[in-house]
Amino acid sequence: MKTIALIAHDGKKAEMVGFVKDNIELIKNFNLIATGTTGHYIEQAGLKVTKMKSGPQGGDAQIAAMIVEDKIAGVVFLRDPLGLHPHEPDIFMLLRLADVHNIPLATNLASAEILIKGLAS
Ligand code: PGA
Repeated sequence: MKTIALIAHDGKKAEMVGFVKDNIELIKNFNLIATGTTGHYIEQAGLKVTKMKSGPQGGDAQIAAMIVEDKIAGVVFLRDPLGLHPHEPDIFMLLRLADVHNIPLATNLASAEILIKGLAS
């Protein structure tokens, strides 16, 4: 089973839950990992997910390390472009390493829908 990482900033967590529910038939076929709070919401939506630390506590960095170790097939990172984030350096690190390692990365809902369909096929 491929692993996908799911991360959503606070302003995007409701969108992430909607994304997971709308695509549940596809998402069931993946191992899921998520940053702590995002993972909590995904669990509440009824899915099994491995939770890393919360983003500001290093969860993005943990997922970035897994990208480097070739353990992640894709990342859905619903960023809040209007918010300020104390862990901005970790966020940029994750985005950079996804590009370095050529890992599919979706940062908004429209691209997330395409990513999940593409990885599932
Ligand atoms: P969270 O982290 O899921 O623990 O809120 C996400 C983030 O802020 O990067």
